[in-house]
Amino acid sequence: MYEKFLIIVDPQNDFIEGGSLPVSGARSAMQQLAEFVKSNSAEFSTIFVTQDSHPENHCSFSSNGGIWPVHCVRDSSGFEVFPQLQEVLSGLNNVEYCRKGTYSGVEQYSIFAYSDGEITNPDGKKIISVLAKSSSPQIVVCGIAGDVCVMNTLNDLVKIRKSADDIAVAQNFTASIDGGEKLEAFCKENNINLLNL
Ligand SMILES: [Zn+2]
Repeated sequence: MYEKFLIIVDPQNDFIEGGSLPVSGARSAMQQLAEFVKSNSAEFSTIFVTQDSHPENHCSFSSNGGIWPVHCVRDSSGFEVFPQLQEVLSGLNNVEYCRKGTYSGVEQYSIFAYSDGEITNPDGKKIISVLAKSSSPQIVVCGIAGDVCVMNTLNDLVKIRKSADDIAVAQNFTASIDGGEKLEAFCKENNINLLNL
């Protein structure tokens, strides 16, 4: 019997249309995801929600020499989970929130921040230890942005688990800056299943 897990990458207001770093199609993807989670949450042992959680002086901000506008500053409204999704998640008891990018000098596109064979983010370690306890996990990944944080998360996940057999991407719950091309090519190259749920 498969045990299913869902990883929702950065479903945060700043990445939704109207936010400081908006990704086209993010609102619709997150609305569809909220509906899906509402009806299907019980299928998943754990729903992991990752959040960019930056201090004001984060190195990824253009004001600090980085390439992105200021986004997802801890405890700002842009940091919060998209309200329609948050409302659904708040009613569940199988949700784990995981934070990344918490140190000013470190960029972490992936919750695992996998480097030199080590998972360097503590919340990423927690996810992997939960997955490791399952004899046959099925891991579905979705979120924003498909060609940045979702792709980096997948790249680490495949390396850490040394296989992509049990990993899938929910395309309809993912929004990419480039419209989805890069993520789709990456998934095909790495034998990651592409789903529309
Ligand atoms: Zn960020």
